[in-house]
Amino acid sequence: MSELTIRDCGPRDGLQPLAPLPPARRAELVRRLRAAGVTSVEIASFVSPKAVPAMADAAAVLDELGPDDACWVLVPNRRGAELAIEAGATQLTVTVSASEGYSLKNTNRTIAASLSAFDEIRAVAPSATLDVVISCCFGSPFEPVSPSTVATLVHQLLDAGADQCTLADTTGTATPARLLDVLALVGTDHGLHLHDSRGTALVNAYAGYEAGVRRFDTSVGGLGGSPFAPGAGGNLATEDLVLLMDDLGVVTGIDLEALLEVSRWLAGVLALTMPSRVTAAGPLDERAS
Ligand code: ZN
Repeated sequence: MSELTIRDCGPRDGLQPLAPLPPARRAELVRRLRAAGVTSVEIASFVSPKAVPAMADAAAVLDELGPDDACWVLVPNRRGAELAIEAGATQLTVTVSASEGYSLKNTNRTIAASLSAFDEIRAVAPSATLDVVISCCFGSPFEPVSPSTVATLVHQLLDAGADQCTLADTTGTATPARLLDVLALVGTDHGLHLHDSRGTALVNAYAGYEAGVRRFDTSVGGLGGSPFAPGAGGNLATEDLVLLMDDLGVVTGIDLEALLEVSRWLAGVLALTMPSRVTAAGPLDERAS
């Protein structure tokens, strides 16, 4: 039994800023992640293909994979939720921002309008599991975000029927000190979605783990970043977190060697170098220590 949940958002957050891959390739990535022991995967996003071309044909990705309760899909609004449910999704991620400026830039709507959109999604998907990913919890390029703003949003969303919340460091401005300030107010029974824009993702994950957080969003290879957030870096690399947790003796259920194979395979498919440090350097070599 895993002692923490690692949700790989590579097929969604990782691929969304890149040139589109066909649905069959995206489904193959999900299958390879599962074979490496990654049971929770965010596989697609039901956004407008005009806004995010790499996420086109989300239903085709679900179709390729068949019904699976461990898959998450992102939905931006009621229409997206309807399409996701029609396609067989049972777990939906919904984004609400803690930063008004980011919300306007990213979704062209206010935080209040996003909360109304959440209510509509809850209404059309009454039996789905809804995880609200709250962006810019630890800072925003547009204005300061206080821990109390995040705490208020978390309470509002749980009251409105969210099953869980995930605190996102969308633009990689979190540090352990900022992270612990927020956790002190909102508690640790939430997910953490970390980006590595300033090289702090792994140390933030460690600080969060030590504080009691047991759910983490990552991306294979450390790919990713919002196409709408200036300076956004990749996600915390799944393999970097797994190496850290393996070394701490924390059971993740993920086979690091197998995951590194997936990362190398994807690097080949995309013809790019993965940001992950562990993919670059390899796992710990016991003989050298
Ligand atoms: Zn992200």
